[in-house]
Amino acid sequence: MNTDSNTAPIHTIDLIRKKRDGLALTPREIAFLVSGAANSSIPGAASSSIPLEQLSAWLMAACIRGLSLDEARSLTLSMRDSGEKFDPSRLGKVAVDKHSTGGVGDKTSFLVAPIAAACGVAVPMISGRALGHTGGTLDKLESIPGYRTALTLKEFEAVLAHCGASIVSQTPALVPADRVLYALRDRTATVESPGLICASILSKKLAAGLDALVLDVKTGSGAFLRNQEDAEYLAALMVATAEAAGTRTVALLTDMGQPLGRAAGNWIELVEAVELLRNQRAPESEDLRELSLILAGWMIHLGGRAATPGAGRVLAETTLEDGSALSVFFKMIEAQGGDTSVFADPAAFHQPGTTQVLKAWATGHIAAMDTTKLGWAVQRTGAGREKAGEPVDPHAGIEFHARRGAHVEQGQPIATLYATTEAMLAEPIELLRQAILIAPEPPTAVPLITQIFTRENAETHLANAVR
Ligand code: URA
Repeated sequence: MNTDSNTAPIHTIDLIRKKRDGLALTPREIAFLVSGAANSSIPGAASSSIPLEQLSAWLMAACIRGLSLDEARSLTLSMRDSGEKFDPSRLGKVAVDKHSTGGVGDKTSFLVAPIAAACGVAVPMISGRALGHTGGTLDKLESIPGYRTALTLKEFEAVLAHCGASIVSQTPALVPADRVLYALRDRTATVESPGLICASILSKKLAAGLDALVLDVKTGSGAFLRNQEDAEYLAALMVATAEAAGTRTVALLTDMGQPLGRAAGNWIELVEAVELLRNQRAPESEDLRELSLILAGWMIHLGGRAATPGAGRVLAETTLEDGSALSVFFKMIEAQGGDTSVFADPAAFHQPGTTQVLKAWATGHIAAMDTTKLGWAVQRTGAGREKAGEPVDPHAGIEFHARRGAHVEQGQPIATLYATTEAMLAEPIELLRQAILIAPEPPTAVPLITQIFTRENAETHLANAVR
C-alpha cells in the first residue's frame, strides 16, 4: 500500500482489477506498480515490493486488455526512471544504438554494435535474455567463457571508452523494473503486447542516454506481433515515444517470416556472426549480412558519420571487409572478461549433448515456415529456459540448411539440431515438422524491409490507428 499524504492510498489489487476490467491506469498508479516491481529485485526491500503473483496478474490483464497510448508512455518513462541512468556525454561521441523487437536467429547486434563503433559512434547497448520463442543477446554472449553482462555504470563507461561498444544487461541498479517484468513476461505468456514491448525496449534505451536509436520491428510468422497492422502500430508508438523523450529514432519493419541467417541458439549464433565479421560469406547468411549493414547504415547516419543511411551502409561494409568491426568486437569481449581464444576453432568449442540431422520428408520447395514454432523448437533444445533465472545450454540450438523458397529433395538434410540430452530432441523435431511446409510451388518473395517510420510519419500514424 502507498500512502501519499495528498492523495488516496493505492492498493495493487485495485490496479489489477481496474486493468482486468479494461480501464486505464493513471501515471501515478503506473509509477506505483513500476516502483513495486523494481523493488522486488532489491534484496531486503520487501515492504515496498509487489509480490510476483500480483505483478503477473497485472501483466496478463495488460496483455489482454491492452494499454492506452498514455499508459504506454507513462510505463516507459517510469521504467526508465526505476534505477540509475547512464550518461554517455563524457565519451565525446554521439551515442547510438539498435534494438529489435525479438526474432529467431536474430544476431544483428553482434554485427551492428562493432560496425557502428568502428565508424566512430558510441554504442551503449542494454540488451535482454531469451524472451518467449525468441533468443536473447545476453544468453548468446554468455556462451563465451568469462563474458560478464552485469557491469556497473563505471565499468560500462570504461568498456565504451576502450572500444566504442558495450553490450550489457539490466541490473538491480540499471532499469531494475524491466529486469523483473521482462523475466516475468517470459514465463507468463505476456510478451505479445505493443504497450509492454514499447516500455520494455525504450526504458532500457532511454536509460542508456542515447542520442539516437534504430529500431528493428519484426513482422511475419516469427514476430511477437505477426500482423502487419500491429507491427506498424508498435513501430509508430516506439518512434513517437522515444522522440518525445528526446531521442532521435527510426523504426524499420523487417521480415521475420524465416530465421535470420543459418543459426538459431546461443554459441552457434555467435559463430555465424563472427564468420561475417571475418568477411567469410555464405549464401545462408546473406539476409543477416544485408539487414545488419542496413541497420548499421542508419546508426552511422544518425550518429552524424554519413550524410545518408545509404552512405552509412557503404562505410559499414568497409568495416566488415577491412576487419575493423571484428577487432572492436573482440576488444569488447575481452574488456568484459570474455575469452576470445574460443573463436580460434569454433567447432572444437562446440560440445552439444547430442546432435541430430533432420532430413526433408518430401521433394518440393520450402513454401512456408512458422517461425514462432521454429523459435519454440530452438528454445526446447535447451537454448531457452523453463523458469526465470534458470541457466541455458550454450551449445543448444538449430542450424537451418534450407531457406524459404529453396528446392529440396526428399532425404536431403534441412536442419541440424543440437540438444542438451537425447530426450530433448523429440519435441523440437516434431515442431520443425509442423512448422516447415514443403510444397510443389515456391512461395512469393518477401522483401526484407517493408516500411520505415520516422518522427515525420509516426504521430500521424498513431492518430489514425484504430485500436
Ligand atoms: N525486446 C525487449 O527488450 N523487450 C521486449 O518486450 C521485446 C523485445
